[in-house]
Amino acid sequence: MTNTAELTIVRLQPHELEASLRFLPAITDAVNQLIYPRLVHTEIHNDAGGIDRIHTEEHPALVDLLEHGTGSSNRGRSAGIRIPIDAEALELWAQIRDQVRLWLRALGATWTDDLKNDLNTWHTHHEDAVHRGNVTPAAHTIIARRLDAWVDRIDAKYDPDEKREWTSPCPALIPITDADGNDTDELRRCGARKVLIDGELKSAIDLNVTRLTARCRRCRTTWEGERGLKQLRWETNHYDDERQSTRADQ
Ligand SMILES: [Zn+2]
Repeated sequence: MTNTAELTIVRLQPHELEASLRFLPAITDAVNQLIYPRLVHTEIHNDAGGIDRIHTEEHPALVDLLEHGTGSSNRGRSAGIRIPIDAEALELWAQIRDQVRLWLRALGATWTDDLKNDLNTWHTHHEDAVHRGNVTPAAHTIIARRLDAWVDRIDAKYDPDEKREWTSPCPALIPITDADGNDTDELRRCGARKVLIDGELKSAIDLNVTRLTARCRRCRTTWEGERGLKQLRWETNHYDDERQSTRADQ
């Protein structure tokens, strides 16, 4: 089956070419959100209500989040957390893959098994086609809307606010207590991942990205400021490595 409408080579009038070129920045922006890690900026407000500064976090590429949702990839996954395979994610992912393949075929390009790679390839070919005047403004509107819709749907599905929960176990080093409950000189990792509070299971580490503080609900260790959160991330990675090497030894 071929889609003749998409294979038609057109020759645009100068004003049409200009109109078509205007879509390129929006398309580049949508493609970048789909295939590259995104920087999410949070405004840090001071007591007077003004913006003190901007806190920046890196979030995975939207396609990575979606592929993580389909269970086909570990990318975008927090350490040790498994979420069930999501039928809606799988459906959306297949829709995007099929459409991108049609677009690639229309431009005489081939595809691979890697959706991010294919989107990138398509983007390059597409820009060339637009500059050559082969894409009408009408066709370009449809493409731009479709890309935007994908970005919106994935973004809404994986609301960044929810991902701000710190799901890794607490890496704090706390004293081992003796039989009488007194602290010894020896240390162990706290290791709490979830705690039950008022019948609700919560992440052990209570993270507040606006105030830039994190506190373990079990051992009460706190990490403060950008430096503190970096330290928490570093200790968490270190703890992950420790647990992985322990598993490898067994
Ligand atoms: Zn702890």
